[in-house]
Amino acid sequence: MGKAKVLRIVMLGPPGAGKGTQALLLAKAHSIPHISTGEMFRGAIRDGTELGQKVKAILDSGMLVPDEVVVAMVRGRLAQADCSDGFLFDGYPRTVKQAEVLDSLLRELTQDLTHIVDLKVPESVLLERIRKRGEGRADDSMEVAAKRLKEYWEKTAPVSRYYVDTGTRLIVVDGLGTVEEVQRRIEDAVVGSGKLS
Ligand code: AMP
Repeated sequence: MGKAKVLRIVMLGPPGAGKGTQALLLAKAHSIPHISTGEMFRGAIRDGTELGQKVKAILDSGMLVPDEVVVAMVRGRLAQADCSDGFLFDGYPRTVKQAEVLDSLLRELTQDLTHIVDLKVPESVLLERIRKRGEGRADDSMEVAAKRLKEYWEKTAPVSRYYVDTGTRLIVVDGLGTVEEVQRRIEDAVVGSGKLS
């Protein structure tokens, strides 16, 4: 068997689409670091760092952290040694600005994204999932979930278009079904996309 091709994957999709679960599975299957900016922020909050203090109220509200803050964090993470053989970004980029910065960061490193996976779930299904999860919970958790979805449509959905416009092929995957079904679709799309030949 030849040497496995380096995978540099971005996973896109709305909150509630199961993106985090699928991102973890895909990263694990290919032994590449799973980089979740949301997880990095939650870690900083848990550790009580300066960054954590800065972003806590923003995460609690369901809004997005300002681009400069996210970008500085991602720049540091990409410079770490474990990213040299590939990575999977989960929850980044979340704005067109972040996508532009990621492109220039990768250009500096003479690297390219190999796959952009866009997990699609209809908005009606997402709203229903939010409603179900909200049952028995405080109203504000519903409000935060709705806010996160609104931020997604306004600021993150245009990122897919950015990649299409800049000539990066988007792999659109149907996110409806069991975890295993969706996992299989993503795996088939990534491995069979021709980028690995
Ligand atoms: P996640 O775990 O990816 O859903 O992220 C949780 C929260 O962290 C989001 O609701 C945002 O407040 C913040 N966050 C994570 N990633 C980003 C990003 N790339 N840009 C801005 N805010 C982010």
